[in-house]
Amino acid sequence: MRLLVIEDEILIARGIRSACVDEGFACHTAQTGSEGLEMIKFYDYDAVILDLGLPDMNGVVILERIRNSKKKTPVIVLSGLSTVDDKVRCLSAGADDYLTKPFSKIELLARIYAIVRRANCLHSSVITIGPLSIDLVNRIVTIYGSEISLTGKEYAIMELLGIKKGSIIPKETFLNHIYGGLDEPDLKIVDVFICKLRKKMAAISGGLNFIETIWGRGYTIKENPEVRARNSADKDQVEPLSIEELKSAS
Ligand code: CA
Repeated sequence: MRLLVIEDEILIARGIRSACVDEGFACHTAQTGSEGLEMIKFYDYDAVILDLGLPDMNGVVILERIRNSKKKTPVIVLSGLSTVDDKVRCLSAGADDYLTKPFSKIELLARIYAIVRRANCLHSSVITIGPLSIDLVNRIVTIYGSEISLTGKEYAIMELLGIKKGSIIPKETFLNHIYGGLDEPDLKIVDVFICKLRKKMAAISGGLNFIETIWGRGYTIKENPEVRARNSADKDQVEPLSIEELKSAS
């Protein structure tokens, strides 16, 4: 999951960032409204955490600009103000949730999970796709109840496939999701991760393939997995990777 925190109070921004990073999210921070709006133009965030009192503009103006740009990214507003009027104003301007400072890290994380679920029309924090389950809170993937051992990056790919199930996800989106726009390796690395995931899932499910390749467009997850022939398991592999690329896929 990738989040943007727009907050000028450095200690609060750091606290939120470290809570998010501990939770396994990629997290960007912006200290002004204009910086935040720029970042939203370039990246697809799963959620934005927005402080109302920023040095260059009011958070409500930022909210309005996000919504006027047709972005549906869920937004949690943070504020020291807590009158009913303030809350109503933010919710009317397009905020999805409102949290009054000071707030607990646990409550913030719970609210992030809740708005991301709502934004993606998920009713529970466990995404079920046939015999496959992705538990977003405990970060566990199981097939027929057996847990698959995944690395952090492999889990991040499964999380994105699950949250966006039914959609075709371009390789660029996976890279953004995994690396958060920083030191991104070549797109081919995504094929390597997918290949590893298919092998792990096939091994535990008796050869089922859940991830479909949409040629030239990306990957999607299947509601009804098919049994994948053993020798075709690697046919989606592209050119061989360099040692550095292989290292960064592990
Ligand atoms: Ca502030």
